[in-house]
Amino acid sequence: MAGETGYCVKCKAKRPISEAKEVSMKGKGGVSRRELKGKCPKCTTTMFRILGGVAKKKK
Ligand SMILES: [Zn+2]
Repeated sequence: MAGETGYCVKCKAKRPISEAKEVSMKGKGGVSRRELKGKCPKCTTTMFRILGGVAKKKK
């Protein structure tokens, strides 16, 4: 995956996430959510993006 973008609340603009890494966050009901966490390349504000799809459904 390349070119991950997120929204910087400080710049109020979409920017590519610097030093992006995937983290798991525990949500309600014990489900884990995947998030992408990184920094704004311009102002170094922490930015994150929630990755879609909590769990893959098996058929
Ligand atoms: Zn910024």
